[in-house]
Amino acid sequence: MVKGTPSFGKRNKRSHIACRRCGKKSYHVKHNECAACGYGKSSKLKKFSWQWKTLISKRRTK
Ligand SMILES: [Zn+2]
Repeated sequence: MVKGTPSFGKRNKRSHIACRRCGKKSYHVKHNECAACGYGKSSKLKKFSWQWKTLISKRRTK
């Protein structure tokens, strides 16, 4: 597999988009769930105490 610049042209499948809840680009379009916060899978926020601070501080507000 080519990892360099030529292979970037193949990156056209958007599996992850910006999550509505945590703002990270971890929301899987086909699976309908966020890998970071679990949005779509559960109503509760998938969080751990050691990562909660970064999740909130990096959150983008519209
Ligand atoms: Zn999320």
